[in-house]
Amino acid sequence: MTPRLFTFFLIALGLTACQGAADSGSNQKPMNVLYIMADDLAYQAISAYGSDISKLAPTPNIDRIAQNGARMDAVYCTNSICGPSRSSILTGKFSHENGFYKNVDGGDFDGSQLTFPKIFQANGYETAVIGKWHLGTEPTGFDYSKVLINWGGQGTYFKPVFCVNGTDTVTEYRRHSTQVIEDDCIDWLSQRDGDKPFMLLYQFKAPHRDWRPDSMYHDLFTDFDFPVPETFDDDYAGRLAASENMMEIENHLNRRDMKQEPPAGLETRRDSMRWLSYGDQGQFWTPNDTLQGEELKHWKYQTYIKDYLRCVAGVDRAIGRVLDYLEESGLDENTLVVYTSDQGFYLGEHGWFDKRWMYEESFKMPFVIQCPGVIEPGSTSDAMAMNVDFAPTLLDFAGLDVPDEMQGESFKSALDGGGVAPRSSVYYHYYEYPKWHKVQPHYGIRTDRFKLMHFYYSMDEWELYDMEADPLEMNNLYAEADPELVATLKAELDSIRRLYGDDGSLEQMKLMTDTVIQRVYTEPSKAK
Ligand code: CA
Repeated sequence: MTPRLFTFFLIALGLTACQGAADSGSNQKPMNVLYIMADDLAYQAISAYGSDISKLAPTPNIDRIAQNGARMDAVYCTNSICGPSRSSILTGKFSHENGFYKNVDGGDFDGSQLTFPKIFQANGYETAVIGKWHLGTEPTGFDYSKVLINWGGQGTYFKPVFCVNGTDTVTEYRRHSTQVIEDDCIDWLSQRDGDKPFMLLYQFKAPHRDWRPDSMYHDLFTDFDFPVPETFDDDYAGRLAASENMMEIENHLNRRDMKQEPPAGLETRRDSMRWLSYGDQGQFWTPNDTLQGEELKHWKYQTYIKDYLRCVAGVDRAIGRVLDYLEESGLDENTLVVYTSDQGFYLGEHGWFDKRWMYEESFKMPFVIQCPGVIEPGSTSDAMAMNVDFAPTLLDFAGLDVPDEMQGESFKSALDGGGVAPRSSVYYHYYEYPKWHKVQPHYGIRTDRFKLMHFYYSMDEWELYDMEADPLEMNNLYAEADPELVATLKAELDSIRRLYGDDGSLEQMKLMTDTVIQRVYTEPSKAK
């Protein structure tokens, strides 16, 4: 869309949307929106979801949102990596439509597109994004932005560098990244223009790799070890794509992940970096001569999971602070609060860390939401939803119209007692290969009962799971399944691909993986 057409579109949208908001309750205060998102924070690490791990490392503040409102159990990411998920969330469109479908060689997010923050802004909301952005280009649609820009936009846990309103850069020397974002969120809320409703994206870097917690959490979990998940020693039998992965706790965690210190005597920074990343490609290393085999694998797991959960503890604290602020200021009564993560993550399931696969742990997103007077406290929902549905849902809760060009649909009616979920299946497509972790590009469909996936890049492999009989996805049924069931699922997959316009040939899809899209973004070097 040209800039001029886009401006016209926003104006037209603003007119209709304001009417929608006015109709939704003439003597009610407008609904504020607080959208909280962590990075790589798996549902298995949230105690509201009840996993064994989370019983030992509870998240009372994320749980508060579920207690005040609803926990959703079937919300899925459409492309399980950072930038692509964030782009789908902002635009309400799948990766192939919004254009940002890979983190590696995938360019940057096109910020001239229509996004939900722009719609809130056009409808009189004061809008802001604070914390992780990771889309390369400058945030658009916000009255205020303060986002991480160093380390390729990932930001760092310590000495993080932020860019304020696209111009000023500031390095934080004393506080941990989570603490900075937490303080900034409270500052912005307390200093904003109180006459307008607000829409705030409050987004953490934590608990992204390399899992470096605030020192205040170093003593957590020192007196016990976490149980390993049931599929920790998976041998990937019957799953060729999974067998080729490079994201195993046993074989692919590097020295930096395990908080090793480079030995004295390395001459250059490059030598140190190489020493720290040793292990990425499956190179064997051990922290001492005695730790080997199973013992070494378990040491790596405990080191990983404890640092990960210490980072989660910081996120939970920061969420508690803003919930307290809303309650103390009375804002909680007319504020929609969402907590989610840009995707799920493996906490040792299948022997893995990282994400990317359409297997449940990385495909499913945690999603808890509170909205007083609209969502029944303590409710749960198994309505199927996708990250492209977030934008329409937030707009819907605020009484704003959802533009036709968004591919997602609002799932408000699954939460407000008004009816059923909008969909009977969800769609997935992952493109990035071979960096990082050698996860074969694949697409697939999940219904409430079955999951069908096609790994197509340098193999032609199908996988089918009965999610009721085999929720851990260890038994690929594709070769032995009833041909009628396979045909039905393939027809549904074809149909959903056509519906979303992602029905190109395998050659076209492979070309998308191979295409190198240069970044236009360069990290500002003038950081103070
Ligand atoms: Ca992420």
